[in-house]
Order: sequence, then structure tokens, then C-alpha cells
Amino acid sequence: MSNDLNVRPWDSIPVRLGLGVLIITLAAFVLTLLIVAAQEERDFTAVDLSEAHKIAAVTVADLGDQMMAGGGPAVWRAVSAKTVQRGQMTGALRILVLNKDGVVKAGSDSTVIGTRIETKANSECPACDSARVEDFPASVIVTRAQGFRRLRVVNAIIITQACKGCHSQDEVVRGYLTIDFDLSRLDNSAKERRLSILMVGLFSALAMLLLTALLFRRLMLRPIRALIGSVQRLASGDLGERTQVLGRNELTLLARDFNHMAERIEEQVARIEAAHTESALLYTLVVEASKNLEMSDFATGVSRVIVDKLHARHTAFFLEAADSGWICATAGRQQQEALVKGDDALETALLPGTAQMQQLLDGATLPFVGEACRTQKLQFMRVGGELTFALPVIAETRLVGLLVCVGISERTRVDQDLLTNLGAHLTLAAANSRNYTEAITDGLTGLKNKRYGLARLEEAVFATRRYKSGLALAMCDIDHFKRVNDTYGHPAGDAVLREVCRRIAACVRKADIAVRYGGEEFMLILPEADVNSLSAIGEKIRLAVATSPVGLGAVGGSLAITLSVGIAAFHADADSADSLIARADRALYRAKENGRNRVELDP
Ligand code: GH3
Ligand code: MG
Ligand code: MG
Repeated sequence: MSNDLNVRPWDSIPVRLGLGVLIITLAAFVLTLLIVAAQEERDFTAVDLSEAHKIAAVTVADLGDQMMAGGGPAVWRAVSAKTVQRGQMTGALRILVLNKDGVVKAGSDSTVIGTRIETKANSECPACDSARVEDFPASVIVTRAQGFRRLRVVNAIIITQACKGCHSQDEVVRGYLTIDFDLSRLDNSAKERRLSILMVGLFSALAMLLLTALLFRRLMLRPIRALIGSVQRLASGDLGERTQVLGRNELTLLARDFNHMAERIEEQVARIEAAHTESALLYTLVVEASKNLEMSDFATGVSRVIVDKLHARHTAFFLEAADSGWICATAGRQQQEALVKGDDALETALLPGTAQMQQLLDGATLPFVGEACRTQKLQFMRVGGELTFALPVIAETRLVGLLVCVGISERTRVDQDLLTNLGAHLTLAAANSRNYTEAITDGLTGLKNKRYGLARLEEAVFATRRYKSGLALAMCDIDHFKRVNDTYGHPAGDAVLREVCRRIAACVRKADIAVRYGGEEFMLILPEADVNSLSAIGEKIRLAVATSPVGLGAVGGSLAITLSVGIAAFHADADSADSLIARADRALYRAKENGRNRVELDP
């Protein structure tokens, strides 16, 4: 195909579909991951924070009791020891006790005792600037370098009734307790969880991709590829192509419809080809029949056309001859055209299984041909994919011809309609040919009649003038023929005439025309005849008759018959058809005068 569509690898459906599935799977996976992470965060906030707050509340209460012992380094040391102990109990990273101004009074981390933490507007010390008890405990996540996260819970140390002995009565908050929890363990486990979710997700995505690919390959790709192959083979002319119909899905419907379509195409093409074969065959036959009206030529033409148009191995076309007997023209792919004549009636000639008949039929059996003659119906036979048929040509109810065609190849579309039409055409053409042949043939001798001879002589004269070729005319007359009639009777004379004519016709070339000019007088038109060979031609004709006695037919016996011959060569500058006849006649007259049974020339 000239405009081939090149499907680039990245345009192919499996690649596109695979990418689509991959993107969708990954997107779904990332979304799941985000949802899981958010859920985790929420779970942490809800559970861990309330736990941390509880720890803060308990620790404050605990330390508060400790601080009831009053101020002083010993008390703060004891508080610090308590924070260490609480830290170990609760898993807190660091517990600090700040006074109202943010100065670290005690804590589990001794290095920061005495330092100050900003309590005003410090996000890392939430609610530290609030005097309201209900704002506590407050919490914040503090991120340190390298992404370490801590949860800081700040609780207020409330001034109780017991404290009021030492602390101002106006104050509600005496100080702050900060507890830092390490979130890295939580973060690590979350990371691990995320990683395992990621792995599970990736494996599921790959599994899904693989499954999709397998399903796609099985359900779509294979049937589509098979279909594409079938479409291509059909398009390249393989009309017998059918695709496999698999499964029960939309592609099954497509494959089935493709097969229906291919069947329809094959039928249509067969119909078109048959119509084309038929019209080409019939047209050529009509042309051939009108070009070759004479029966032998017509039969030969038909045989040739049938072999040519139906691609047959061999054809034999039998016709009832115009006078009597039959003729058969044969042709074949690897054989010479031939014309055979027989004297019996056509129907009887076709019945006996003679070697000659077997050869003419070349593979079509006699019973098969006999059936066509007997039933007067077309006979079909398929042998090894090749078609053989016998088509009778019937005029009214009489068998006047038979077309036997052997070894028509499978690629030629031949159906019954075509052959029926062919039969009708052959019947008409054979009748025309017969009428024409009868009109130009002498009924007694089978030679061409005088009218036809004169017309052909005019044509020959015209062609000789035009193409500057040679032409000669021979006039022959049987010597003392009257005696034959007088001695043996007219029927014996007729038999002699027939035999003499047969001998004359047999010894001239195909292009020569033998004409019965008068009673026992014959004219031979000899186109392309060489002047130097005129004598030899004349002698050949004379000897054909004189060499052996001629049978007297039903009367019995035979008789020596001789012929006188006069031959004239055509001279384009001086001659016409009439003058050529007159000169040949004069030569014949000389032959008679000079003793008969001889040839005289007028070169
Ligand atoms: P010549 O050697 O001079 O030609 O003598 P001939 O007897 O052949 O010549 P002639 O012209 O005297 O006689 C011709 C005879 O041919 C006369 C006629 O009865 C005979 N004839 C012509 N046509 C036919 C025919 O169709 N059948 C038969 N049996 N005889 C025919
Ligand atoms: Mg004569
Ligand atoms: Mg005569």
C-alpha cells in the first residue's frame, strides 16, 4: 500500500493503555498514601496528645506536692530528682519546672537549670503568657535541627490554698511545667509504615499492571492482531481469508462481521468476475463468429476463444458439417489447433469409443459426453479442482454441435448461467455459420461455388495489386466426362465428381481456394503462387487425379480419370479478374487440344 500508516511504538494502543493504567494506579496509590498519612496525624493528635496531657496533669500534681515543702535549693533538687523519676516513668525526654518569669527552677536536664525561657509570645512555650487556668495544658510540636520533632506540653502550676502562705493571693499561676516527648520514635514507625504501604502499593500497582496487560493481550491484542492480519490479507487479494472467531465479546462480533463481509466480497467478486468472463467470452465469440462465418473457421475460432478465455487445458468443438458428416476443431494451452472431419452423423460419431474420439476428447470420458448428447443437457464434472463440461448445441430438438471443454482452472469463474448463455450463442452462431457455408458451398462436391469463387477472386486481385504479391489461377476440366455419365449413369458420374474434387481440395494449400466453376470444371485461386512453380502445382493437381482410378460409388468398380489443367499468372499492369479467367481458360483449351491429361501454362 502506498500510504502506509506507520504506528510508532509510543502510539501503539498497548503502550498508551499501559501508561494510562500506570498513571492511574500511581495516582490512586499516592492519594491513598496521603489519606493514610492524614489519618495517622489525626490518630496521633487524638490519642498521643490526650495521653501527654494526662501525664502533664499528673506530673504537675505530683511536683506540686513536692513544692509544698517550700523553696530552697534542697526542695528544687528534690523536685529535679522527681522530674528525672517521672521522666523515666512516662518516657518523657525532658521535664522542666519554670517560675512565672520562665526561669528554669528544676528539671530532668540539669544543664538548663537557672537558664530562662521566654514566656511572652513564644510559640515554643504555648499559653505561657496566659493567666487563665483553662488554657492549660497546652501543647506544641517543636522541630529541632535534622527534623527531630518533639511534643512539648506546658501545664500551669496553680497556686493552691496551701501555697497562699508564701505566694501572693492575686496570682493564679505560680509557674509552668514543660514536658518534652520525643516524637522521633513515632516518626520512625510512621516512616516505616509509610514505606511498607509504599512497597505494598508498588507491588499492587505492578500486579495490576501485569494483570491488565495479560487481560488486554488475551482479550484485545490477540484478536485485534489476528483481525488486522486478516484484513491485510483480504486487502492484498486473498479473498478466501477468514479470521478466527474467539470468545464472546465485542471483538467476537467484529471478527464474525469481518467474516461475513469477506464472504460477501468474495461472492460479489465472483459474480463480477463471472460477469466479466461471460461478457469477454461472449463478445469475443461474437466477433470471432462474424469474422469467420465459414464453418471450419468458425469451429476453430470458437475452440481458440474458449481455451483463451476460460483458461481451459483442451477444447473440442464438434459441429454438424454443412454438406454431411461432422467437423471437430480442437485447441489447447499446449497444443496446436487442429481440424478433423468425419463422414458419419455427429451423434453416431460421438458414441463409439474410437482412439480418434478419445484423443479429441482428451480426458472427458465418452459416457460423460454421451450423457450430454443423450439428454441434450449441459454436463459438469469437477476433477481435482478443475472443471470439465460438455455443452450440447441444439437446434430446435436436434443435436447440431457439442462443445467439450477440459481442465478449466479454478481461478476461472464458470457457472451454469454462463454456459447456458454460451450454449444459446453457439446455437445461433452455428446456425448462421451453417447457412453461410451452405450458401457458398457446392452441395455435390463440397468445393466453394462459383459465386463465392468469383467474389474471392476479385478480392485476391485487389490484394495482389495492393500488396504487390503473386497470384495465379488454374482452370481444370475432367477429360471425356460425358462418357462416364453415358456409360455408368449419372450417379456414377456424381461419385467420380466428388472423389476428383476431394483429391483436388486435398492437394492445394490452406490459403488456396478450390471452386466448382461449372459441371466438371474447377477453378483454383492460388494467392502468393510463384511463377516458377506453376507447372509443378499444375502437375500435382493432374497427378492427384490421374495416378489412381476413381471409384464409381454405389455402381461399384473404378475408372481411370484424367484432368486437363490451364494455369495463368496474374499481371497487375494488364490483368483483371475476367482477363485472368479468360487466359487460364485459353490455357486449358490448349491442354485439351494438345491431347488432354496435361498442364498448359500462361505465365
Ligand atoms: P472434354 O474432355 O472435352 O471436356 O469432354 P467432356 O465430355 O468432359 O466435356 P463435355 O462438356 O462434352 O461434357 C461435360 C459433361 O459433364 C456434360 C454433363 O452431362 C456432365 N455433367 C455436368 N455436370 C454434372 C453433374 O453434376 N453430374 C454429372 N454426373 N455429370 C455432369
Ligand atoms: Mg470435360
Ligand atoms: Mg467441361
